[in-house]
Amino acid sequence: MSDIQSFRESVRAFIAEHAPKSLYGARRGRFDGYWGGRKAQPEPDVKRWFEAALERRLIAPTWPQEFGGGGLSRDHVLVWEEELTALALPPPLVGVGLTMIGPTLLDYGTEQQKREHLPRIVRGEVRWAQGYSEPGAGSDLASLSTRAVREGDDFIINGQKIWTTHADKSDFIFALVRTNTQVKKQLGITFILIDMETPGVSTRPIDLISGWSPFCETFFDNVRVSAKNVVGNVDAGWTVAKALLGYERSMIGEAMSSELDGAERTLVARARQALGAAAGPLPDPDLRRNIAELAMDVETFAFAVDRLRQTVQEGHKPGAESSTLKVVGSDLKQRRWELGVRVAGPDGLGWEGPSYDAADLKTTREWLRSRANTIEGGTSEIQLNIIAKQVLGLGGGKP
Ligand SMILES: Cc1cc2nc3c(=O)[nH]c(=O)nc-3n(C[C@H](O)[C@H](O)[C@H](O)COP(=O)(O)OP(=O)(O)OC[C@H]3O[C@@H](n4cnc5c(N)ncnc54)[C@H](O)[C@@H]3O)c2cc1C
Repeated sequence: MSDIQSFRESVRAFIAEHAPKSLYGARRGRFDGYWGGRKAQPEPDVKRWFEAALERRLIAPTWPQEFGGGGLSRDHVLVWEEELTALALPPPLVGVGLTMIGPTLLDYGTEQQKREHLPRIVRGEVRWAQGYSEPGAGSDLASLSTRAVREGDDFIINGQKIWTTHADKSDFIFALVRTNTQVKKQLGITFILIDMETPGVSTRPIDLISGWSPFCETFFDNVRVSAKNVVGNVDAGWTVAKALLGYERSMIGEAMSSELDGAERTLVARARQALGAAAGPLPDPDLRRNIAELAMDVETFAFAVDRLRQTVQEGHKPGAESSTLKVVGSDLKQRRWELGVRVAGPDGLGWEGPSYDAADLKTTREWLRSRANTIEGGTSEIQLNIIAKQVLGLGGGKP
């Protein structure tokens, strides 16, 4: 038996022994995983699943063991992810600690920053938020104006971030702040880690049309932060910020690929119900073609995601190419839920009440949520500009 096969056997045995039955299939509903953090109050089964995976070093499987990771290869991690997906089991821990700031600290953090933060992410003790966007700096992120002024060994930070996902539930935020106003805007930015409990940090939630409100405004009012919390060099945060965006966009692409897996089966089953066609080809040829096109594009997308994953395993950092996954994945997610609403017919816009089943309600909310896919992590227009300039070398950019 190959090493990978025997690893698969051991993962299956681990899941059979430790995954609570209540979590089987949970990913098909609205449970996206446990986020951890100081304020977390997980259900007993969720906690049990997390603790078992922590013990087995499966929380951050590719990270070095000295920081609490599993030290596994991407091929092994793929097996772990495939086995979770097959049972629609949620990962034991999710969040931007694992997918964004952790990998960035591994690349750019000081030894002290790695030792302080990485094991706490793995143990689920600290939940992270991303403090990039500001009211005057979204697509044009380098225009950000949250100010950090040096005072001895510290920085004093003043300003505002916006669209900070789950800031009110987070313990730490990685933020971009302006430390120099006398140079080209990209050259005066610093990447800094801020404890949300520091005096002067406050958050205010923002409501969304989907009825789900993860967003906050985050305010900094004379917040004192040690210069030891700067990642990379002062005024050189733009490089760190862009590297993190590479991780963010590949993470979004991978997450979308796994969420879209098997979408056509659900759509066909729902269409059969709605059209009263238990077997044979769906009687609506237009719908049939749209579902088939989606299924083929989802499959091709999964290959592209796998290919990027392979190159990352070979030591390549996800760069501008991750923008292609972000653009295509967002488009597929929106097509998938447009079709979901179409197939559900009059039930496709159900919001609440006994006449709608759980699948109808999920469809409406996911359709609304998918509007944000082409905005979060950088809009599709911005990704297309990046691809044109940095991947294809058009308009004076370098491929
Ligand atoms: C679900 C979700 C979660 C998010 N989470 C976070 C978070 O945790 N932390 C955080 O910091 N931010 C977060 N954001 C914010 C996100 O990064 C910004 O919304 C995004 O970068 C766009 O910025 P903006 O909203 O200011 O839009 P704008 O930049 O004002 O853009 C408006 C429109 O103009 C277009 N446009 C702008 N410039 C160009 C150009 N040069 N060429 C072509 N078209 C252009 C855009 O594509 C867009 O359609 C989140 C957003 C969403 C939707």
